[in-house]
Amino acid sequence: MRLIDLRSDTVTRPTPAMRRAMFEAEVGDDVMGEDPTVNRLERQVAELFGCEAAVFACSGTQSNQMAVRLHCIPGDELLIHESSHICNFEAGAPAALSGVTVRTLNGHGGMLDVPDLEGRVRVNDQHFCRTRLVCLENTTNLGGGRVYPLQQMQRVSDWAVAAGLKRHLDGARLFNALVAAGAQAVETARCFDTISICFSKGLGCPVGSMLIGSAADMAKARRIRKLFGGGLRQAGMLAAAAIHALQHHVDRLADDHRHAQQLAAGFQQLPGVIGVPAAIETNLVFFELDPEVGTAVQFAGAMRDRGVLIGPMGGTARATGDSSRCRRGRCADHSLRCTGCTAAGVP
Ligand SMILES: *Cc1c(COP(=O)(O)O)cnc(C)c1O
Repeated sequence: MRLIDLRSDTVTRPTPAMRRAMFEAEVGDDVMGEDPTVNRLERQVAELFGCEAAVFACSGTQSNQMAVRLHCIPGDELLIHESSHICNFEAGAPAALSGVTVRTLNGHGGMLDVPDLEGRVRVNDQHFCRTRLVCLENTTNLGGGRVYPLQQMQRVSDWAVAAGLKRHLDGARLFNALVAAGAQAVETARCFDTISICFSKGLGCPVGSMLIGSAADMAKARRIRKLFGGGLRQAGMLAAAAIHALQHHVDRLADDHRHAQQLAAGFQQLPGVIGVPAAIETNLVFFELDPEVGTAVQFAGAMRDRGVLIGPMGGTARATGDSSRCRRGRCADHSLRCTGCTAAGVP
């Protein structure tokens, strides 16, 4: 049986055309700054965002953590949504790699707005850590693939500047957001000091991420990348995949979004499936299962028997994606507790 794999937008495989671009890539030693294909990708992405510079990185985790280290020193604190990737899915990296404390906040759909942030900047007092950085995520992952309205990012940005904070955007799925909103990368970039993007999610590359910002910040970030083990040599083969994806795979994200809407409409009809969002903005479909009917793991098993793979996380299912939101302690899989459980204080 041919399986349709909707567990994640990371399970893509490079297309024959992408493999050919990788095969034919001109390469050099990138740690020496001599890989022409990496240099071309970095210039191209910086230009796309209207920024001075960009640094190729191994993964979204690496580029996010390069930003945390860039903006903060040990003992500092960053403000972030409680469902964000940086604080839930990066193995405790802010603490482990940068000595940074994470202050998690709540906000609608995985997004933060000024009222969620106000009053959370600590005063200058030797008792307190220094609040240094605010991180947003666009699109939101656990938030359900939501797209930040540009004005909301601008509001948060203005507030952060006034509060003396640096601003980082985890844009692992930023191209999904831009395609869905019909927005320009440059407008988003004006709201942040640094942005990370990923090539290995919906864009279909095997590897690759990028941090974007000012020339001075990216020079520091390059040093941090080396410190974090991300200095690559003939990385042009990977950069070539990213260049190919930017040219051929961005516009087609709209197909993914349409498919996700079709999928959600189908799930809505199924008995026992609840909480399918009325509006699917991008490529992620999260829903819950009526605990009287079954668990997310059981549902995923039944789907698998019918040739479709979805990802049960706790009690939530996501399809690109996963398939079951935690029902306050009724997670089928307590090894990965969902933010709902956590917020409800379920042990
Ligand atoms: C996938 C993802 C990342 C990066 O993950 P890597 O696997 O390290 O590339 C970062 N942020 C968000 C929101 C993500 O979904």
